[in-house]
Amino acid sequence: MTIHPASADYGIWFKRTDKLLGDAMIPARWDMVEQTALCTRIVNTSGVTVSTIEHLMAALSGCGVHNALIEIDGPEVPILDGSAAAFVHAILKTGMIQQGVPVRAIEILKPVSVTRGDAHAKLTPADELRIDFHIDFVDEAIGQQTKGLNMANGSFVRELCDSRTFCRKSDVDAMRANGLALGGDLAENAVVFDGDRVLSPGGLRHSDEPVRHKMLDALGDLALAGAPILGRYCGDRAGHSLTNELLRTLFADPTAWRFVECSPAMAARLPGAGVHMAEFPAVA
Ligand SMILES: [Zn+2]
Repeated sequence: MTIHPASADYGIWFKRTDKLLGDAMIPARWDMVEQTALCTRIVNTSGVTVSTIEHLMAALSGCGVHNALIEIDGPEVPILDGSAAAFVHAILKTGMIQQGVPVRAIEILKPVSVTRGDAHAKLTPADELRIDFHIDFVDEAIGQQTKGLNMANGSFVRELCDSRTFCRKSDVDAMRANGLALGGDLAENAVVFDGDRVLSPGGLRHSDEPVRHKMLDALGDLALAGAPILGRYCGDRAGHSLTNELLRTLFADPTAWRFVECSPAMAARLPGAGVHMAEFPAVA
């Protein structure tokens, strides 16, 4: 997979280099998302898909990359260590350029929410993107975790980008049945919990790594809005499909949002604004 520069207002597009050119292009957008339980997958009108885009999308959003062409020679973004750290490292190491066009953002004008069972996701008006998340698992090693962060000024890189995806031992069979995380040892690309135990060698990178990863996922899924969001996201036990449903609900109501051209002061508070390599965490 290669991330290429793109012109201002291009957005984020994937190109499957193993497909005919007419079938290869897939925009990274909320309305291209195919419903899946365990990851975020986009599909174009030719039926060509790319799966597990959420950690890469979080890395792009969290570094402030709004325009890029991602060439990939297969149907799944590399899972790597299950976090966004390697993507963030590569982006920061390569560097970014400021494009000579003001950033267009999506301002949330009124509360929008979706509920499915005991899962809930909500967007409310705010001057900056803030993500709040709560999870509640029966496994004692996860339990209840709550965290909230303003995504401005590189907080994603400092606080979230190295938090790995996680699963419960009982979920592993379901992932295998869905054809995910089959490459190599699962413990190398996810934290595996079993009741009160962390099965992964080396343990956790943060005591609340699971809720941090859920925030990372939320940022990646919100990046499919197609522009940075000025608003507060609250997720309670939410997952990829519920966050996508939240975006669909938002965009179905033209009175709930509007595009705004960011002033330099607003742009300076967007996720990734001013972020640099010194903020990259020491990854175990
Ligand atoms: Zn994830």
